[in-house]
Amino acid sequence: MFSVRNIATYFFILCSFLLLFNPLYTAVKAASFSNSQLIFIVVNDELIAFSDDHPFVLEGLTYVPLRSLSTILGADVMYDQNEHAVRVHKDGQVLTIHVFENTYESEGMERKFLPIKMVDNRTYVPLRLVAEFFQLQVDFYEDIPLVRLIERYNDLQYSYEELLSQYKEQIEIEKQKWQVNKTLEKKGKTAYLTFDDGPTASTSQILDILQNYHVQATFFMIEPKIWNYQEEVKRMIAENHAIGSHSVTHQKNIVYKNPKSLLEEMQKTRDTLYTITGVDSRLIRVPYGSKPYLTAPFRNVLAEHHFQVWDWNVDSNDWRFTKEEILNTVKKQVKKLNEKNITPVILFHDRKETAEILPAIIEFLQAEGYELKAHDSEQHFMVNFWNDERL
Ligand SMILES: [Zn+2]
Repeated sequence: MFSVRNIATYFFILCSFLLLFNPLYTAVKAASFSNSQLIFIVVNDELIAFSDDHPFVLEGLTYVPLRSLSTILGADVMYDQNEHAVRVHKDGQVLTIHVFENTYESEGMERKFLPIKMVDNRTYVPLRLVAEFFQLQVDFYEDIPLVRLIERYNDLQYSYEELLSQYKEQIEIEKQKWQVNKTLEKKGKTAYLTFDDGPTASTSQILDILQNYHVQATFFMIEPKIWNYQEEVKRMIAENHAIGSHSVTHQKNIVYKNPKSLLEEMQKTRDTLYTITGVDSRLIRVPYGSKPYLTAPFRNVLAEHHFQVWDWNVDSNDWRFTKEEILNTVKKQVKKLNEKNITPVILFHDRKETAEILPAIIEFLQAEGYELKAHDSEQHFMVNFWNDERL
């Protein structure tokens, strides 16, 4: 028998699975690596078809989407929710890929480094290493380029030349699609400005600046302060910014006393936001970020209540840096993320100095090609220090 609780558990496992493999999960359309190159995959005599997650060559390695390994290798690919690991089974052998650690292992073998790439929130793994692990022969034909995997004991039908003439048309079509996508993706970069600990006396100034630049942001707010700045909070909604909860007390001994107290603080803040704006936001940022305090029991309760938890991946340090230092550190961190094709979620605080340097930060981001958007609960994607996909 399925209890409600069991169904919920299966639902979470399913969601996590979809998050990793589903091509529809394109929460943020990040740009492809500008120096990547299209490559085709042939298994024995068959050209493998891809939708919009086509394999590519980057820095001399051929990357294929993790979810396509089953098709390419004829393997079973299973996602292990607890370990955030993917197990690839074929011919009695198992290769385990630790997605968030960039490592792989198999029985009797130590964990080794595996350069994993994320594009459009999809996971890509180097093909040669995985294919050779399962004893496939890997042939590389440079002029298309094309990788041909050959299974042992397979009687090949086509020579290389025959392959090319057989699939010529299909290859041409894919090449054109790739070009179009690359052009489109260049325009598709997004960054998220987020402001914690408000609203404050600086909020209206921050909103003015955002309005001037026609950009959106996300505000994580403290419950008692929301009552003090109700007009500003309403204005956030009117101007299409996103709102989220950031606790009532902001005191770690109280917020993290136990999972129940955390839940109550977040629920109360959410209720207040709803009372004032009419918007029911599931989005939260926990005080001080999720590490180290948001251990499994805390995360479980948030996941059970369907909260969306955002940390950040760029820290402006605006609570302790000068304006110039804030700008410099944001620039540096954003450029680093851009190389790795990661969407920046930038932490600021709702304060005067931050407002003063904000125009320069927005101008920098726009010059780098970013569109600044508010968090969208319909397109929520994982940004948390625990890499917990439920949040
Ligand atoms: Zn805070």
